[in-house]
Amino acid sequence: MKILDHKPADGTTKARRCFIETWGCQMNELDSQRMAGQLMQQGILPTRDPREADIILLNSCSVREKAEGKVFSRLGEYRLYKKESRFKKSPREIREPLIGLCGCVAQQVGERALKKVPELDFVLGPARVGELREVIRRRRAGERVVATGFPEERSFEMDTISREGEYKGMVTIIEGCDKKCTFCIVPMTRGPERSRKMGEILAEVRHLVDYGFLEIELLGQTVNHWRDPETGEDFADLLEACATTPGVRRLRFVTSYPRDFTPRMVAQLGQQANISPYLHLPVQSGSDAVLQRMGRGYSAASYYELVHQLRAARPDLALSTDLIVGFPGETEEDFAATLEMVEQVRFSSIYAFKYSPRPGTAAPRLGEPIDRPVADRRLQSLLALQEGIQRQLNEELVGEEMEVLITGWGKEPGTQSGRTPCHRAVHFPASQTEQLGGMTRVRIEKALAHSLLAQPLAPATAPPSLLPVLS
Ligand code: SF4
Repeated sequence: MKILDHKPADGTTKARRCFIETWGCQMNELDSQRMAGQLMQQGILPTRDPREADIILLNSCSVREKAEGKVFSRLGEYRLYKKESRFKKSPREIREPLIGLCGCVAQQVGERALKKVPELDFVLGPARVGELREVIRRRRAGERVVATGFPEERSFEMDTISREGEYKGMVTIIEGCDKKCTFCIVPMTRGPERSRKMGEILAEVRHLVDYGFLEIELLGQTVNHWRDPETGEDFADLLEACATTPGVRRLRFVTSYPRDFTPRMVAQLGQQANISPYLHLPVQSGSDAVLQRMGRGYSAASYYELVHQLRAARPDLALSTDLIVGFPGETEEDFAATLEMVEQVRFSSIYAFKYSPRPGTAAPRLGEPIDRPVADRRLQSLLALQEGIQRQLNEELVGEEMEVLITGWGKEPGTQSGRTPCHRAVHFPASQTEQLGGMTRVRIEKALAHSLLAQPLAPATAPPSLLPVLS
């Protein structure tokens, strides 16, 4: 690869390095791949050690207060690396790293981050990720850059995405969110909703299949609200077009909004065998009163009805969900309705959190937060209930044979990890023929609360080589 930029002062062609730390959702993961790709095009290669990096990017998440607090403590660590680099012995070794705050906290905090952290070089919001190279150029010219806000035209250039080390091909189909859930900061950090054109999306899916990916994951904050901006085709049309693209072995999509599901979309789940029998369908609460205060626009009964329709179309469907406990005004009866929802639906996994007030959202005006000990107790009893259900559901899979997508090495030496079609984590003995991103058949031998143990049945289907995308 030709080194295009940033040669060391000694004239050698030693490559420069970037370290990217990613927090939060799949959208952030893909944004990090996009930033890594832009840097690799300039000959700046990834490293796992921030101390040897010339560029450190912190791709942040602001959905919960705790995550946001951690971002600034991590920036505190990185600023020390910057200070340390000033004390290296030889002038040749002085390579003070650039530090960039990216992602949702960047959008939310903007210029204030530069004041709070003097060593911070730039702030890059999620809708401006495609401008990273230009931002770095401006910084090197002396400006501390704040690139936030939501430009009319957003770049989805697929040739600047580094897919190296990935086992699935992620495709953004819709960005931002126009819903106004009263607890959520995302509409403020990711901006107004914007769908990509069907043709562009399908071109990217074909590109990922050619590249060797067996699993394609369609991404959006409200992925099933996608609509082609020119033709008006909806998510049911897109699902059909993606699922029938030759080479797509497994198709997934995240995150679905309950109210946006239509009968045609439900039907696609039943008709396309390669659509994964797994759906993340956030319900947030089982209480109508709380759902109303959250501004979700559906009732518990309509959620139950949707689950019924989905399972009628796809009996093997596994569902996961998001739940918030301790939302302002949540009573014991409201919480009991949430427990009831979890018992009735039998989710394969849940992401449950205590309510955390976010700046600029409406929920803090809806009432006093629930006392912390009460919210703690509710969260613990919810998690305990789910753990029992999850273990039972996992035990029902023991003895089944299934195709597993290999996602990486296991914690135990000589093992690999993967995902079943229903998105359970599974661990099994590795063999010489199996590779990251390939599929292998396994028999489930043992159920744990959060994963499965399995034995391989046949050699894996090795994917074509997974090489980084560089144009
Ligand atoms: S649908 Fe609601 S919870 Fe989801 S991103 Fe939009 S505002 Fe947030």
